Amino acid sequence: MIVDSHNHMTKYSPDATQTREEMLQAAMEVGLHGIVTTDHYDIDSTTPYGEEWVFDPEEYCEINYPHRRLPSQRQKGDPPGFLCGIEIGYIPKYSDRLRNLIADYPWDIVIMSLHLVHDLDPFHNPEKIYKPSLEDTYREIILVIAESAEMMPSANIIGHYDYFSRYVPGDKSKMLYRHAPREFDHLFRIMIENNQALEINTGTIEKLHLNRGYSLEEAMPDPEILARYQELGGDLISISSDSHHTNQVARLVPETCVWLQKHGITEHVWFEEQKLVKESFEVDDALQIDWDKRA
Ligand SMILES: [Zn+2]
Ligand SMILES: [Zn+2]
Repeated sequence: MIVDSHNHMTKYSPDATQTREEMLQAAMEVGLHGIVTTDHYDIDSTTPYGEEWVFDPEEYCEINYPHRRLPSQRQKGDPPGFLCGIEIGYIPKYSDRLRNLIADYPWDIVIMSLHLVHDLDPFHNPEKIYKPSLEDTYREIILVIAESAEMMPSANIIGHYDYFSRYVPGDKSKMLYRHAPREFDHLFRIMIENNQALEINTGTIEKLHLNRGYSLEEAMPDPEILARYQELGGDLISISSDSHHTNQVARLVPETCVWLQKHGITEHVWFEEQKLVKESFEVDDALQIDWDKRA
């Protein structure tokens, strides 16, 4: 019963290879309840070929909206639902433009993400972004994410708070509550005020598991982060694979749901025309997971 709320398609996201048809086919094969395309809108970011990471929203809506199917109205035997959203990269100097972009089109879901700090991306500029201590790095990053949540109150989901942990040079880069407790509290208070969901991004989980020396269980989010979010009153969790290729659709989603349930979370959310939908998810008891598995 999961709606995978964050995915990318070729043609709109320069780093994705799946077409809409392929993505929908994959969603059906893995048994998702619904899938959302949320393509990159990162002003000023360019690919190695000099192409800006933005798309024409007008054309995007025209082509994709006829294929929408609301997950909330899905009947037995129907294919998975399909919704259209956008993943907006936060850049402070373009806040007004980004707010207009949210307001001017009928997005189902707007994800606000941080891909750059000081106009630099962590993948190509690790030495300029990462400080000697994870605490100093993550405090700065969570503060900017909090600013993005505050400046863009109409965004529905705060995407991958832990994105920067994917590219830290060296092992054991997982983001923990204790790295930035005050900053996390600040972020969560803003999100709760704005009804913005906290995204659990299985793309980060997979990267930590495959590249950063964590077992599958260790690669899951820090339980203290979720506990504190709930303690402050947060109850909107979205689950997403951030897939760019068909083999990534719903990656580690069953495992993540089992793990979330172990930590007392049994509901997830998505948005339809930016209206909140909350559903409990069922975990398949037969699912055997090797939590100690290492890459
Ligand atoms: Zn992203
Ligand atoms: Zn993404």
